Amino acid sequence: MENTNKKCTQCGYTKDLEAYYKDARRKDGKMSMCKQCFKSNLIERNKTPEKKQKIKAYLEKPEVKKRRYEYNKAYSRLESVREKRRVYHRTEHAKALRKKRRLKKLMNLRERL
Ligand SMILES: [Zn+2]
Repeated sequence: MENTNKKCTQCGYTKDLEAYYKDARRKDGKMSMCKQCFKSNLIERNKTPEKKQKIKAYLEKPEVKKRRYEYNKAYSRLESVREKRRVYHRTEHAKALRKKRRLKKLMNLRERL
């Protein structure tokens, strides 16, 4: 019988193999920690000031900026994305956010007067 479960070395939970990222260097082809742990580890690692600085410097590179801009432009043109946005636009959540933003703008204007 094929083993489809694996114990995560980080959180200790036994999870389905689907819950692990691929790692070609490992015997079973999966990482030793689950996706969830891997993600939270990444986030934690990126929280250090040096890391933050590095990420910021990377994102400010003109070629990276351009690539990200092009990517976002292409992405927002996708019909599926536009449709999702249209649907979201009509939700109460989106309406509330817009209202909040409008109010904030008003407050800022008032402060400047
Ligand atoms: Zn885990």
